[in-house]
Amino acid sequence: MTPPKDDNKPPRDTIVRRVEIPESASRPVATPLFPSVVYSSPSADTLDAQYEGAVDGYTYAREGHPNADILAAKIDGMEGAEGGIVTSSGMAAISAMFLGLLKAGDHVLAGDQLYGRSLRMLSQDLPRMGFETGFFDAGSADNLAAAIRPNTRMVMIEAVSNPTLRVADVAGIAAMAARHGLILVVDNTFTTPAVFRPFDHGADIIIHSVTKFLAGHSDVTLGYVAARDPAHRTAIYDAAVTWGMTPSPFDCWLAERGLNSFEVRFAAAQDTARIIADGLAGQPGLTKVLYPGRNDHSDHDLAATLFGGSFGNMVSFEIAGGRDEVNRFIAAAGKIPFAPTLGDVATTLSHPASSSHRALSAEARAALGMSEGFFRLSVGIEPAALLLGELNAALAAVNGE
Ligand SMILES: *Cc1c(COP(=O)(O)O)cnc(C)c1O
Repeated sequence: MTPPKDDNKPPRDTIVRRVEIPESASRPVATPLFPSVVYSSPSADTLDAQYEGAVDGYTYAREGHPNADILAAKIDGMEGAEGGIVTSSGMAAISAMFLGLLKAGDHVLAGDQLYGRSLRMLSQDLPRMGFETGFFDAGSADNLAAAIRPNTRMVMIEAVSNPTLRVADVAGIAAMAARHGLILVVDNTFTTPAVFRPFDHGADIIIHSVTKFLAGHSDVTLGYVAARDPAHRTAIYDAAVTWGMTPSPFDCWLAERGLNSFEVRFAAAQDTARIIADGLAGQPGLTKVLYPGRNDHSDHDLAATLFGGSFGNMVSFEIAGGRDEVNRFIAAAGKIPFAPTLGDVATTLSHPASSSHRALSAEARAALGMSEGFFRLSVGIEPAALLLGELNAALAAVNGE
């Protein structure tokens, strides 16, 4: 018996079935968004050929999708890399890299001033899973040499440390890593390819938190990892797919849109950072201003050699006093968001003692050169005079003026 026909309802097949994208002789200018989780192939033979790599074709979004590939190709171009992989966060990129390249019992040596979560992964999570880890002061390759063991496989550094802005002995470390056959990983989030391109300096792997400068608008969480050796690339890709570190197409789409303006954003922010560092230096109530582009920075010469005259957009400074002064400064600088991030198009202020470095004791922070009054400024693209005015007003509020 056929069910009675309800003429008021449209036939279900036209609702459920997906429609063809309308034909157009012209193309979209903006990158389309591809949220599709699956792709349908015309035949089993084609699907076979796809899986064998004989023809290009997407299958399932965890294994790859157009928005991730479009974004990865753009970052590849900036880094001089090929086949970079976009992941769901910067930490996912680091996880995929470790899980793809290491086995239990392998030893990793890492700079002792890496990003906080990287330090935690290396000091707690990797050892729990049977990886061996150790740390060295990346200011000199001699410190690396002293820490190498027979089972050391990998060295991981950041070219500029957060938040004290010390510069790593990248040339010495790369030479030492090459001599001992170690994989050199550089997390280039802080420096960005506008300042430093790790593959030009002997790195084997590049990591990015795309969340920061590359996307640049504090509205996506994404990572990127590139390997120079295609075998490393395949191993990292498989780890990312197996462990499920897939980036969202929408996040990739937003990040690619952000990336379009990266070079001009970064150049403007870097120019402003220089003006701010010079404007703050010597102000009453400030006990320290750190910017690698200034002659008074302890690593200025090394930074000039390594970075060819680009010194980035990060400025750190220290105010006299303790937590009360810190809170007064934050309140008085209220138009500059007090937020534990970096690389946003607008300037943000962070306080390591209460955020990224809160797990360390005051003594351990002091050993790294960070007192309670230590701040880090990620300079954005606002006018320099506006920012300097706000920072000076905040200083005046702390000084009781
Ligand atoms: C933020 C950051 C990370 C982690 O990236 P997420 O996208 O937050 O996971 C790694 N390294 C550095 C240097 C960072 O600043």
